[in-house]
Amino acid sequence: MVKPNLLKDIINIWGCTGLSGIDSTEYGFRIGALSTWTEVRQATALPPALIECAATVGAQQIQNRGTVGGNIVNGSPAGDSLPMWLVLDAEFEVASTRGVRRIPASEFWTGYRKNAMVDDELLVAVHIQPKSTDILHYRKVGTRMAQSISKVVLGARLRIADGRPIEARFAMGSIAATPVRLPTVEAAVLAGEGADAATHMAQDITPLDDIRSTSGYRLNVATRVVRSFLEQYLGA
Ligand SMILES: Cc1cc2nc3c(=O)[nH]c(=O)nc-3n(C[C@H](O)[C@H](O)[C@H](O)COP(=O)(O)OP(=O)(O)OC[C@H]3O[C@@H](n4cnc5c(N)ncnc54)[C@H](O)[C@@H]3O)c2cc1C
Repeated sequence: MVKPNLLKDIINIWGCTGLSGIDSTEYGFRIGALSTWTEVRQATALPPALIECAATVGAQQIQNRGTVGGNIVNGSPAGDSLPMWLVLDAEFEVASTRGVRRIPASEFWTGYRKNAMVDDELLVAVHIQPKSTDILHYRKVGTRMAQSISKVVLGARLRIADGRPIEARFAMGSIAATPVRLPTVEAAVLAGEGADAATHMAQDITPLDDIRSTSGYRLNVATRVVRSFLEQYLGA
């Protein structure tokens, strides 16, 4: 009988120093794919909403070992960081023997646990350019405070000038096969509808029904978390 060699196709990348570290760049931040969630939590220069996101992944044991790159490449619909990368307009630096290229987060997740990398590419780093004038927001709704798979997870970014919203980005996870942007809600915010923009939620999402939540529950919660964020910054 041939014994299977279960380890023959596994590459240990922990020693790849080029994939490590969280650094400030001229434009923003380079977050190495091997950065753990604990390292993200400790990188106090990063946007607080991203640090908050890191603090909700699993619990401390998972945060000590789980990586930013693993979360992104795994591409679970419930991957807590994915909506944040979408609203931050992150770029993913990927490399192979053919060279290095960048994939915008908006083009990365192409289907259920599918992504735009080809088989021999590694995710090297995530690049973000947060603006100090932007309001960034993260909200995870799960059953518990820790070790909880999201029922709904929201990433949001709002830019306000002279009391008016001039940029609005919303993305949700645990709703569909991939994280999704909310274009109708975003347009309604920019059109001056304030917190009522959240009432357009059903035009942007048709949430899935699964063991964790019903579609109706997800729609209500998604509407509620967006409304509550908008009320905080644009008034009721
Ligand atoms: C108990 C438990 C609780 C969890 N809770 C949460 C949670 O609350 N929220 C959440 O989002 N996730 C959660 N997870 C899932 C997981 O731990 C995280 O998504 C974590 O960030 C994954 O990182 P990893 O390094 O362990 O990835 P791995 O599981 O090692 O990798 C995932 C996939 O990505 C590939 N991969 C990894 N890094 C790279 C790279 N640099 N380039 C190319 N491919 C790569 C791997 O080959 C694999 O196919 C949980 C997992 C467990 C076991």
